Amino acid sequence: MSSSNSTPPNPPGNMKKSISATPPSKPSWVLPYKTQSLPQLYTIGKKLGQGQFGTTHLCTEKSTGLQYACKSIPKKKLICKEDYDDVWREIQIMHHLSEHANVVRIKGTYEDQLYVHIVMELCAGGELFDRIVQKGHYSEREAAKLIKTIVGVVEACHSLGVMHRDLKPENFLFTSTDEDAALKATDFGLSVFYQPGETFSDVVGSPYYVAPEVLRKHYGTEADVWSAGVILYILLSGVPPFWAETEMGIFKQILQEKLDFESEPWPGISDSAKDLIRKMLERNPKKRLTAHEVLCHPWIVDDRLAPDKPLDSAVLSRLKQFSAMNKLKKMALRVIAERLSEEEIGGLKELFKMLDTDNSGTITFDELKDGLRRVGSDLMESEIKDLMDAADIDNSGTIDYGEFLAATVHLNKLEREENLVSAFSFFDKDGSGYITIDELQQACKEFGLSEVHLDEMIKEIDQDNDGQIDYGEFAAMMRKGNGGIGRRTMRSNLNLGEALGVKNV
Ligand code: ADP
Repeated sequence: MSSSNSTPPNPPGNMKKSISATPPSKPSWVLPYKTQSLPQLYTIGKKLGQGQFGTTHLCTEKSTGLQYACKSIPKKKLICKEDYDDVWREIQIMHHLSEHANVVRIKGTYEDQLYVHIVMELCAGGELFDRIVQKGHYSEREAAKLIKTIVGVVEACHSLGVMHRDLKPENFLFTSTDEDAALKATDFGLSVFYQPGETFSDVVGSPYYVAPEVLRKHYGTEADVWSAGVILYILLSGVPPFWAETEMGIFKQILQEKLDFESEPWPGISDSAKDLIRKMLERNPKKRLTAHEVLCHPWIVDDRLAPDKPLDSAVLSRLKQFSAMNKLKKMALRVIAERLSEEEIGGLKELFKMLDTDNSGTITFDELKDGLRRVGSDLMESEIKDLMDAADIDNSGTIDYGEFLAATVHLNKLEREENLVSAFSFFDKDGSGYITIDELQQACKEFGLSEVHLDEMIKEIDQDNDGQIDYGEFAAMMRKGNGGIGRRTMRSNLNLGEALGVKNV
């Protein structure tokens, strides 16, 4: 260790991606659609922070009085098409991850001649970095809780096909100043979608946190775990593991310096914590723990609170959830998923590509099996087959893009009334305000579904027994958890997966 400070020294700035000297023609718009104007909907308040690309302000939604944070990126900073693509990708990734409890929720995006604005959940509790600076270091218990949250975000990213690439305490903010405020990841500006086995060579990230293989320009998702390991080292000791006066000095240390567990406060820190840090800061990325394995490490798993149960990947838990739904809900989800905006489903499109390894436009059983293995699932073949069958709405033997969207779109999209209304009117062809058996039959034909159990299904949903489904009944079915109607219908006949014991999550 080269520093005896009790707080991390000011970090050097991010390393920026190299930009070609002669920019190709620059587009005028980042978003592929026109948006309303930000000042019409929000009042802009005080400045909250300044990042490398944008400035963040407090803002208040005029219609509700609710407060948000608005990050405004000046378009004059976007020099070439690649920069435009980067901002668009950041927005899609925020949407893709936004149901995670520790990822800041994106509320809306707006664009005018001069700026792209990203309105998101307000995190008024300040940066994790500032709290570390104030506190020096955390107790092992507090640190374990924080790193569990951070690695939980990393695991979610990886299981959804995203590599973060810029993990550092500055990119995590607390929702409020309360002692038990939630910690949220806010900045996905350097994150990318990745394909299985894909390696990257652009050197990005922040010097202290960058993994050795990133410096060697050949890296994959393991680099995120390294960065999280650096954060953990800092949380426990207050200083970075690899430190020098210059960037070159830091890099040299990252590539070869031994970890210092001798200086204060390390002698007083548990062996289990050190074991985890060693395994996260393993220089060989192949031998390094995965995010999933970190979450299963004894130091993280508190036996009394959480048993050491393997976690499901996002894809797997969504497929399981989907398999327990009734047919109408599945069809409705497909209708909804297909109508969501490109920015909301861009992430699922990338995830589909990640699973569809031969680029055929459909996911086969083997592709699904490989994909689930890659994200750490240990399901049996028969269980995977059941999930496959559940997602394969039209029984074609493969999962097409529409089916995939329906099965993996996050159910929080259902909270939005307009999505339910539009799905309802899709089924209610004659606009009578009711979905009738005839209309359901027609929908089944359109989706290539058998109509065998329709009567039974309507009965389950039709609370007032008038033989048809009104909007209230439809919305109740859509919003109801999977312990409800879906499960009972399945158990009777429709869902093999349920019958064979694929558990709901
Ligand atoms: P950049 O991508 O340009 O580096 P950041 O996303 O890091 O920008 O944001 C810059 C600063 O704005 C942050 O350091 C933080 O202080 C503030 N900020 C960002 N997002 C929020 C938020 N959701 N709530 C409150 N403050 C935020």
